Amino acid sequence: MAQIDTLPPLREVIGTYGLSAKKSLGQNFLLDLNLTAKIARQAGALDDADVLEIGPGPGGLTRGLLSEGARRVLAIEKDERCLPALHDIQAAYPDRLQIVHGDALEVDPLDHLSAPIRIVANLPYNVGTALLVRWLTPKTWPPIWDSLTLMFQREVAERIVALPGSKAYGRLAILAQWRASADIVLSLPPEAFTPPPKVSSAVVHLKALPEPRFPADAQMLSRVVEKAFQQRRKMLRASLKGFDPDIEDHLHAVGIAPTERAENISLEAFCALARSLKS
Ligand code: SAM
Repeated sequence: MAQIDTLPPLREVIGTYGLSAKKSLGQNFLLDLNLTAKIARQAGALDDADVLEIGPGPGGLTRGLLSEGARRVLAIEKDERCLPALHDIQAAYPDRLQIVHGDALEVDPLDHLSAPIRIVANLPYNVGTALLVRWLTPKTWPPIWDSLTLMFQREVAERIVALPGSKAYGRLAILAQWRASADIVLSLPPEAFTPPPKVSSAVVHLKALPEPRFPADAQMLSRVVEKAFQQRRKMLRASLKGFDPDIEDHLHAVGIAPTERAENISLEAFCALARSLKS
């Protein structure tokens, strides 16, 4: 296989720095550099962009991003043990890699990056959804990022791209698809990781739309969708009863039968309902 850089293979790096995987940090490492370069390519051209990477670990994806030409990479890693391996990569790519030791839920990456920004990560499963929801619900739109290219457990990836009528359809699909395009671009079996997780994984590519697909107040949409899916098998007139005393009137006004269930309501209809409730 072609070498992507002159740094040592990742298995050697892990041995040198004693990076035994910690479950508590969601550590399932990608050690095949051809695969990490392929994941980096799913983010599109990187030479004109700053990349934010969450959880670089021993640096497999980081090396993929840099070898694919990323202008700059800001990598936020919580595990102190990974820092020496990341400093070796920094030395091999002068001025292109910035490492922040910290918790991605607490560090503000805007202090370090300039537009356009692409976020690319093999996310730790325990904070992946929280980070995605945060990136999808900024105070203003368009967001700071152009695109998100993210590895999730397959089941989470399916929830992001799900369509009405499917079991996976819910709040995550609506938040993602309202203001972005979302596609699964790569599937990976457990054996692609060290150690292998119990389930398959998939890379989702989300591209921010300049404007939402349908007008709606972001907070109202998020609240009504959350409530509607809390009891997804219930009829909307029951699941949204506590939300607004006139809920049946609002449902009728936007053409939704009060006996319908949340999982059958399109994004467009949820936006119409949010507008009606807001007015
Ligand atoms: N990017 C590496 C790869 O693809 O091999 C590692 C991916 S591993 C699934 C997740 C990484 O996120 C680990 O290195 C872990 O230490 C790190 N991590 C876990 N929680 C974190 C957090 N809250 N903030 C930043 N990094 C975190």
